[in-house]
Amino acid sequence: MAQPDTDGKRKWVYAFSPGAAEGGADMAELLGGKGANLAEMARLALPVPPGFTITTDVCDAFFAAGNTLPEAMKAEVMRALDGIGEMVDARFGDEKCPLLVSVRSGSRASMPGMMDTILNLGLNDQTVEGLARLTGDSRFAFDSYRRFIQMYGDVVLGVDHGAFEDILENFKNLNGFAADTDLDEESWREIIADYKAAIEREYGAPFPQDTNEQLWGAIAAVFGSWHNPRAKTYRRLHDIPDDWGTAVTVQAMVFGNLGDNSATGVAFTRNPSNGEKDIFGEYLPNAQGEDVVAGIRTPQPLTRKGAGEASESSLEVAMPHAFGELVQIFEQLEHHYRDMQDIEFTVQLGKLWILQTRAGKRTTEAALKIAVDFAADGLISRDEAILRIEPAQLDQLLHPAIDPGAEHDLIARGLPASPGAASGELVFHSEMAEALKAKGRDVILVRSETSPEDVHGMHAAVGILTARGGMTSHAAVVARGMGRPCVSGAGTLRIDANAGTMRAGARMFKSGDIISIDGSTGRVYAGKAKMLPPSLSGTFGTMMEWADEARRMKVRTNADTPRDAKQARIFGAEGIGLCRTEHMFFEESRILAVREMICAEDQEGRQQALDKLLPVQRADFEELFEIMAGLPITIRLLDPPLHEFLPHEDREAAQVAAALGMDLVRLKTRVAELEEFNPMLGFRGCRLGIKYPEITRMQVRAIFEAAVNAQKKTGNAVRPEVMVPFIGYRREFDILRAVIVETAEAVKKETGITIPYDVGTMIELPRAALLAAEIADGELGADFFSFGTNDLTQTALGLSRDDAAPILSNYLEHEVITTDPFVSLDLPGVGELVKIGVDRGRSVKPDIKTGICGEHGGDSKSIAFFEDIGLDYVSCSPFRVPIARLSAAQATIRRRLSGKAS
Ligand code: ADP
Ligand code: MG
Ligand code: MG
Repeated sequence: MAQPDTDGKRKWVYAFSPGAAEGGADMAELLGGKGANLAEMARLALPVPPGFTITTDVCDAFFAAGNTLPEAMKAEVMRALDGIGEMVDARFGDEKCPLLVSVRSGSRASMPGMMDTILNLGLNDQTVEGLARLTGDSRFAFDSYRRFIQMYGDVVLGVDHGAFEDILENFKNLNGFAADTDLDEESWREIIADYKAAIEREYGAPFPQDTNEQLWGAIAAVFGSWHNPRAKTYRRLHDIPDDWGTAVTVQAMVFGNLGDNSATGVAFTRNPSNGEKDIFGEYLPNAQGEDVVAGIRTPQPLTRKGAGEASESSLEVAMPHAFGELVQIFEQLEHHYRDMQDIEFTVQLGKLWILQTRAGKRTTEAALKIAVDFAADGLISRDEAILRIEPAQLDQLLHPAIDPGAEHDLIARGLPASPGAASGELVFHSEMAEALKAKGRDVILVRSETSPEDVHGMHAAVGILTARGGMTSHAAVVARGMGRPCVSGAGTLRIDANAGTMRAGARMFKSGDIISIDGSTGRVYAGKAKMLPPSLSGTFGTMMEWADEARRMKVRTNADTPRDAKQARIFGAEGIGLCRTEHMFFEESRILAVREMICAEDQEGRQQALDKLLPVQRADFEELFEIMAGLPITIRLLDPPLHEFLPHEDREAAQVAAALGMDLVRLKTRVAELEEFNPMLGFRGCRLGIKYPEITRMQVRAIFEAAVNAQKKTGNAVRPEVMVPFIGYRREFDILRAVIVETAEAVKKETGITIPYDVGTMIELPRAALLAAEIADGELGADFFSFGTNDLTQTALGLSRDDAAPILSNYLEHEVITTDPFVSLDLPGVGELVKIGVDRGRSVKPDIKTGICGEHGGDSKSIAFFEDIGLDYVSCSPFRVPIARLSAAQATIRRRLSGKAS
């Protein structure tokens, strides 16, 4: 923000009144959202009480000068105040005809209720009498005065508002009054005397009678409220910079407390929960602003429909004229701002005044409905409708949620690692989870932390809870990938898997007890929580259709199982970008054969085990091909280090040895042999197939035989994309491509059916990105690149994902990084490698297929980058597919709008 000059030449104060304003809606930076929109409404000649806004520059100057108001501003304020006085026929501080004002805060971004506002300023012992004479309503005048003293005492003088509330409560109790509105002039006079005494006692000086002193005090306090703790917290939670500062709006008061044909209220032009085109709001007769929010009296609905039985209490019935005007203004403001508005208004003696408008906060469901409705009505374009939805928000719609209206028994809090909610029986072992799942039971898998060996248990569970691990822990990443709700790092839980117990504080839970987790909030509850099902409403579908028409990139999914593949298709996936074959290996029925293969003494023994695996792999692929009905599928050859498949606990090792008919010592020796210091940079990826080509042969055979079968069965042509992982050298690719081609040829000869296919590679090592031209070169070079940005991030940053959490949080704290590079792609570094890989690959093979299959495939910011470098598709976990579809559409539209598109 520009440095304010303190020489007074800069304009500090911007006036507005119906039909004339010095600012407008586009000046929120200087006037704050509230001030800018008041000016805009004044320009539209809406009934806005006249006023002026002191700029955010003054706020900067105020703080820079050690919390003092610049003198030059004071002169401008006094002039503007005279201007208001002329318009409303009153003078600030005048005993006969006093002008009263509100002093209101307003920053660039809406921070509702976070800062302070003072009403009825300009009242003192003399002017209150003037106001009483002028209006002929002394109850009203003294009611206004006591409100002012109370607010001023609280906000400016720092007297706890409880002191005032106690005085009022006591008075009402002693004198048998129920509601504030029952109190008469005499009562208020007595209370005012007590209020003043309280101020003198607590603040140490009398309540200021000088109206100018009141004004400067209030303006300074409103600026100062920018730094109050609740405003600071709000800013931190909403990423609002601390140096924006607030503007201050000073505005002529209008009075909703002038009796029963006066009122004050708030309204949304549409229903903010579901987006229906229903006016939604409340009002209080004979009241002033803060009463509605403060909950002193119960407000009444605006519309007859909203009020139901009590329809005559609605504003529509009670003040039909003001209501009619209000509805018309709603319409006008919606058209003008082209968005749903949140409006504050006051009715003074039957006349309507508008005090604020802003874009209304809304749920995802409402945001979709409103955007679609506005586009359908031609108020905004489809592109704008698409751009209005925050893609990550869609997540809320795709999972069941815990009913916020019901009571629940909270036992622990952890991290909201994977959204959605689930209830089920506690289980502590993955095997148990699978066994119970097979019996149709819902289970929550509870572990201190999870490892790849728990994947099948996680899959069988409806939710996952861990005591350790962060947002990028194994449990979190896998759960998000599977779309399972997960709470990770619930550090207060003591989990003893062997004893089958979980302690939460003084309470003990055991296997079979029912708990609920909320992966959207990180909360853990005892018992079965009340759930609301996901609602993929009609507008969700419409928005997705529009997004699909707008986007350039395809969206695929990362799916390893039929269940994931089906889910992803429901969410609109256009293929599988990554099928990790090892997840199939972990399933109970196969792990033994996998272990047998790994432990085999020689090639012959290995082949025997592989022969057992072939039919199961083939069946897996066949089912996937059928589900995907001709859509492209990228299948990655076996990737993880083999030791991940072996047992690591003594008890389990003994069981495995027995099952394999193998000597326990020999098994343990094999486990020890395969142990590596740094398995993620060890014997994995293409390195496995180069050493044991028979593994590759089995997998490729399974793929091609499955393709033949699926094609026969469904009639849909299948074109598998076989992906070789962890390539760094062209020679690695050549060796494995030869194995793949030879096996494909063999299947073709045996079946007589030709299956067209592509062989490509995952780019996940910096060397591969740099040597992309060499890797893609020629007929026998890679047919496609899929950027494995999870590993590429690890290998480019030299940072192991499994160990990253504490390092990253320290780095965030020291501002080494601003976002987790495993969540949002590190554009300057890893992004550059991706771009280099794409460019160099295309330099030798212009039409090489390019995609990405890391976690970043579901992240909006990363997707915008992938659009810019022209990838053909992104691939992400099933539950992120809708998010990716919308993000890709937004990226295409933004690129077009910025003129970057060709
Ligand atoms: P917030 O940002 O907390 O909403 P506002 O500045 O909007 O604070 O003030 C709160 C309420 O005070 C308004 O909704 C309105 O009812 C009342 N108010 C503010 N200014 C005036 C005014 N000039 N006349 C009457 N009521 C006012
Ligand atoms: Mg307020
Ligand atoms: Mg307000």
